[in-house]
Amino acid sequence: MSSVYNWQLGRAMRYPFEQAAPKEQFAFVININRCIGCQTCTMACKSTWTFSRGQEHMWWTNVETKPYGGYPHHWDVRILELLHQANPAGMTWQGKPNGDPRQPYGALSGRNIFEAPDQVARGAQPNQVLGYLPSEEEWTSPNMHEDVPPAPAGKPMDFGGGEDLARGGGHKTWFFYLARLCNHCSYPACLAACPRTAIYKRPEDGIVLIDQKECRGYRKCVEACPYKKSMYRGTTRTSEKCIACYPRVEGSDPESDGVPMETRCMAACIGQVRMQGLVKVDKDNVWTEDRYNPLYYLVHVAKVALPLYPQFGTEPNGYYIPPRWVNVKYLEQMFGPGVSQAVERYRTPDRELLAVLQLFRRSNRIIARYEIKEGPKVYETTVNGKKFEMYNDTIIAFDRKNREMFRTQVEEPLHVRPPAHQNSI
Ligand code: SF4
Ligand code: SF4
Ligand code: SF4
Repeated sequence: MSSVYNWQLGRAMRYPFEQAAPKEQFAFVININRCIGCQTCTMACKSTWTFSRGQEHMWWTNVETKPYGGYPHHWDVRILELLHQANPAGMTWQGKPNGDPRQPYGALSGRNIFEAPDQVARGAQPNQVLGYLPSEEEWTSPNMHEDVPPAPAGKPMDFGGGEDLARGGGHKTWFFYLARLCNHCSYPACLAACPRTAIYKRPEDGIVLIDQKECRGYRKCVEACPYKKSMYRGTTRTSEKCIACYPRVEGSDPESDGVPMETRCMAACIGQVRMQGLVKVDKDNVWTEDRYNPLYYLVHVAKVALPLYPQFGTEPNGYYIPPRWVNVKYLEQMFGPGVSQAVERYRTPDRELLAVLQLFRRSNRIIARYEIKEGPKVYETTVNGKKFEMYNDTIIAFDRKNREMFRTQVEEPLHVRPPAHQNSI
């Protein structure tokens, strides 16, 4: 076992391989506040990569309604239970969210999935990673519990009643859509568990792939991935997972014009909630400062985008802007201690955040850098006792070759149809 640095946990941790880092890291931000659960992303991936025999139940990206939905069923509750068994005294965040990119959320005590496998009884085989193998039934009905909010115990249909279900703040009742794909983790559990070392992390972009020639279908990766994003295919007797649409990210897709392009599930998003990019990291996988890369800005400067279940320990590269109407305690279990701050900033965004939020889904190509040209103040109000001012700034996006990709404004232009065409289609 080696010691590696996990900045999301704010500390070194145990991992079966030596510390290593890619040149750049595939990462993405999903704004939950705007996801409408339309599943266009799900179908974009399905129709591109998993439409063949044996892949019928394989959804590399899926959108589940939280708190009850999950693919496979209850995947997060099951791994959280195992972590709880391994940490009877709990896992506790020490320190406060701060500006240090090596420890932005404080430090987490307790054993994660790489540190706990011996703590929980798991059968005869020694394991590198704490996990479980879902049953075949758990992989069915990927969108079960769609649009189902929580209700008080014993009152399953009482959705707005007397009991305050959101004691941490928010609506009395709630649900939200969680869009998920492989997080191309910095310390992948799938890779750590594979007895044939058939899984590798690409040094150029950190994308995690399974070598189909080497895989023998032992399903150790399926068991180990805490996000359950490695899946077994019976017809080939191998495991498969999201490949991060790597021809697009490499810029070798015919449409890409030689610069990195966003993946199918990102580019297809109707709600304009997904943004994907490549971030620079140091030898410890800590993000190096790249102030005007939109992902760096959202994660490390505005701090509105948070990692999904950082306590698992894989250092996932998927980040989420948490929903502002949901029980904060529930969200803190899912995204760590930065939730209140992130929700507050998103509720009353400052000038730069409002401008950066306009970048989502204006182009299929990856944005390397942005610039803002200031415009006039167009609106002001008070939100939760806080002053909010809106400026019609222009935000300009540049690609990797430093070419302008597009420019857009905070205030959407209004187009009035001329009277001559009022009733035409
Ligand atoms: S999300 Fe799972 S499958 Fe993807 S890299 Fe992380 S551990 Fe591996
Ligand atoms: S990145 Fe590509 S392969 Fe991965 S889930 Fe999205 S569409 Fe599917
Ligand atoms: S396409 Fe976008 S809005 Fe629709 S479900 Fe997927 S992430 Fe949500």
